[in-house]
Amino acid sequence: MVENCLFCRQQRPVTGEGLLIRGYFICAACEAKITLLYREDPDYDFYLNGLKKIWHSPGDGNCEIMAEEFRLW
Ligand SMILES: [Zn+2]
Repeated sequence: MVENCLFCRQQRPVTGEGLLIRGYFICAACEAKITLLYREDPDYDFYLNGLKKIWHSPGDGNCEIMAEEFRLW
């Protein structure tokens, strides 16, 4: 299991903050960044590509729920 943030490589805090989805960790800071992300944002593609890695990983099924959560669809 990857315990470093998918985006900024920050190690998962022992407090358990952030998201853990299918073995991928997204830290609280990046989670907040993603939820505030807009298509015009220069970082948009970077974060979207990272999320696609999770969406396209084996065991698909709840992609739409995630997409809704991050408002990126
Ligand atoms: Zn991060």
